Amino acid sequence: MMENNSDNQTQNTKNQIPNTKYLKLSGLEPLIITPESNFINVGERTNVAGSKKFLRLIKEEKFSEALDIARNQVEGGAQIIDVNFDDGLLDGKASMIKFLNLIASEPDIARVPVMIDSSKWEILEAGLQVVQGKPVVNSISLKEGEEEFIKHAKAIKRYGAAAIIMAFDEVGQADNYERRLEICTRSYKILTEVVKFPAEDIIFDLNIFPVATGMDEHRRNALDFIEATKWVRENLPGVSVSGGVSNVSFSFRGNDTVREAMHSVFLYHAIKNGMNMGIVNPTMLAVYDDIPKDLLELVEDVMLDRRDDATERLLDYSETHKSVKKEVVENLEWRNAPLQDRITHSLVKGIDRFIEEDVEQARQESEKPLHVIEGHLMTGMGVVGDLFGSGKMFLPQVVKSARVMKKAVAYLQPFIEAEKDSTQRSNGKILMATVKGDVHDIGKNIVSVVLGCNNYEIVDLGVMVPAEKIIQTAIDEKVDVIGLSGLITPSLDEMVHVADELQRQNLNFPLLIGGATTSKAHTAVKIDPKYKNAVVHVNDASRAVGVVSALLSGRNGEYISELKSNYADFREKFLNRQVDKEYVTIEEARKQNFKIDWQNEEIFKPKNLGIQIIDNQNLEDLVDFIDWSPFFRSWDLHGKYPQILSDNVVGEQATELFADAQKMLKKILDEKLLTAKAIFGIFPANSNDKDDIELQSNGETFYFRTLRQQLKKSEGKEYLALSDFIAPKTSGKEDYIGAFCVCAGFGTDELAKKYEAENDDYNAIMVKALADRFAEAFAEFLHKKVRTEIWGYAANEDLDSNDLISEKYKGIRPAPGYPACPDHLDKLTIWELLKVKENIGVELTSSLAMWPTAAVSGYYFGSPHSKYFGVGKIKEDQLEDFAKRKNIDLEYARKWLAPNLVE
Ligand code: SAH
Repeated sequence: MMENNSDNQTQNTKNQIPNTKYLKLSGLEPLIITPESNFINVGERTNVAGSKKFLRLIKEEKFSEALDIARNQVEGGAQIIDVNFDDGLLDGKASMIKFLNLIASEPDIARVPVMIDSSKWEILEAGLQVVQGKPVVNSISLKEGEEEFIKHAKAIKRYGAAAIIMAFDEVGQADNYERRLEICTRSYKILTEVVKFPAEDIIFDLNIFPVATGMDEHRRNALDFIEATKWVRENLPGVSVSGGVSNVSFSFRGNDTVREAMHSVFLYHAIKNGMNMGIVNPTMLAVYDDIPKDLLELVEDVMLDRRDDATERLLDYSETHKSVKKEVVENLEWRNAPLQDRITHSLVKGIDRFIEEDVEQARQESEKPLHVIEGHLMTGMGVVGDLFGSGKMFLPQVVKSARVMKKAVAYLQPFIEAEKDSTQRSNGKILMATVKGDVHDIGKNIVSVVLGCNNYEIVDLGVMVPAEKIIQTAIDEKVDVIGLSGLITPSLDEMVHVADELQRQNLNFPLLIGGATTSKAHTAVKIDPKYKNAVVHVNDASRAVGVVSALLSGRNGEYISELKSNYADFREKFLNRQVDKEYVTIEEARKQNFKIDWQNEEIFKPKNLGIQIIDNQNLEDLVDFIDWSPFFRSWDLHGKYPQILSDNVVGEQATELFADAQKMLKKILDEKLLTAKAIFGIFPANSNDKDDIELQSNGETFYFRTLRQQLKKSEGKEYLALSDFIAPKTSGKEDYIGAFCVCAGFGTDELAKKYEAENDDYNAIMVKALADRFAEAFAEFLHKKVRTEIWGYAANEDLDSNDLISEKYKGIRPAPGYPACPDHLDKLTIWELLKVKENIGVELTSSLAMWPTAAVSGYYFGSPHSKYFGVGKIKEDQLEDFAKRKNIDLEYARKWLAPNLVE
């Protein structure tokens, strides 16, 4: 529909510009964007994220040079300049105000409109207050929900600005055609109908994602953008469409020839279909007609998803036509910098190639070897700490920095010992332990590394550490703080026990609490009141340093009393909130269970009943089943894979981490470093009227005791228990249930220890994170095998890995400890039923965590009615009933179900 046609434009200037319904922006001069306008090019050199130089100048407060950059942009043809100061080390609001004020008195810059760019509303608003002319705000979206969106849109309208609306909602970023349409349509409706925002002031940013990444689900990335652009321009009257173009070629970083061609081809098609604005680096753009014909064809194949082998062919071309890598030359320039800068650079970038050489030089120049650690190395780590603390550096990088640091210290160690130098002074000593019964330590290890980087000495007691050992070590080692970690719910109780013991012995170590099931609520309600000293919930490695340094600072008394009163407030509010909730009795709930018409229900008889073992699963077959998003989460990088690879903030770091993971993955596969085993079975089963599932195996009867929801629901809604999905005995029909345990963790510990011994925490953590991924992938793989072959009820299922991750399959595989079956005790039944330990060697700890850690166990339900849900809180009457059914002591049952009991 839109043609990039200059004849039309000439014609337009002859006519009077109509005063309706066009996007009109202005600096000192107006910029009116009509259907006939050329593509509007937004300059991004005045964006601290887009230009390192600009960032440096602003940091050094060299505003006049920063203005030169803006001037060059405008002279170079930018029709709008994007201005952004989102950087952890800058006062973004002050910089925005100052810079916009300065621009205002430079007519050759102020000529063009400004795009005020920030992820913080506060900065956007500050910009709106000082900017002259009619700017664009970049950006707002439905990400934080409608209320925020409407509030901000109203404010922007009041300030008389246009706005970039990101195709982003509460669920996430739009990454396919339908989602783009869905979010844009919804945003448009809200903006035009609720806010009465002028349609022509809406500019949709439809998210440009990379193509040719090697992933099938990325193949349509460009095409989906282009087609969505066309739809949006045709169906949402008045709006413009924009995007950041360089993302599309992300996977060809290092080959500028290919990238430049990709940008041009992308723009050619996107503009033809209605993209009328965008951020483009003019030096990274080939002239469409100058692109060699062979390359053009390859790029168009990729961009328009025209062939299955398009990516491979473009990669082959790129291999044989490598453009000179500018980076390589620049990369080593830092070697000419002064010694301290080089050491800092190595630490910040996690480069260990030169560190020994540099440390040796530092040693020769220092009076004592210890001074190198206290001086050069700590200076460098200080920079790392600052960058991380301010969100400029991400966790995987910090762990890599730690690796360089450890290597340097290891190099110095013999010299320090030779001189009998006293050990270095640390900021404090921290004991770290995963509590008794629990084996998960990725999070704990990460926090240890981060604290170590900040010159805290870590006493790491490992996993499954009993309270007595924690306390004795804390006393013996005179530590300053104790950090407790745990992942499964029984660990919550164990942490309460540690606090109890500390108090009983009248000890005074501040406690840090962390791990997946821990929460501020649990810490405030259950742990804090037990203990007179500070108890802090720290679930985020980046917060650990701040908390510890406050706890150990000279003014910690104030900090601790503030913490205590904050937790007390929180506790009070939390407990009061609980009071409102109503519950039904267990009999009531059972009466209103989830009803299936069993007489008319077809129950699929499994093709294979009984138990089977997989003794050595080929890991290669699991790779396609890996869900990568949780992998990034374990490294504190949040976002959905694969979009996370091109995320504005963490994309670069995520890409690097992913590449390292692929390397390790390949090594694990090639050298067969991990072994995966599974055991599973399907059995005849029925439910009874007490929420039990009764099953038969080899002439023996086993019972799964399921739990039922009791939180009061609106009239007519059912109260679910897993047993509802199995035909009751009274139906007279035979039904079935499966159980399984998979483990990919054999070999993990040995491998991780080997890396730890080499001072390589980065790869030690990597190995564990990958073993976890393999275990989850194995669970997914085996479940599919069960559905399609073993049980066979879904023989014709056709689901790709995305569908599996979003649980689109028929039937479920709930896992004990998860919301539908929060009781871990059932794992004992699974172990007995399948003889898991005897057959594949996976054990249960005292808290019923699985060991080796990288393991998953659960049940298989085949019914098409079965679904995941949460039991939520249950009442005393069900607890008593449960203890009776299980034939266990009431107090013992209470201990296991504690997290699920109504207060
Ligand atoms: N793709 C993810 C899968 C783990 S979480 C990963 O690789 O990490 C999904 C699993 O958690 C499900 O297969 C099921 O076993 C369990 N699960 C999720 N919700 C549940 C619920 N409400 N009740 C019981 N189990 C649940």
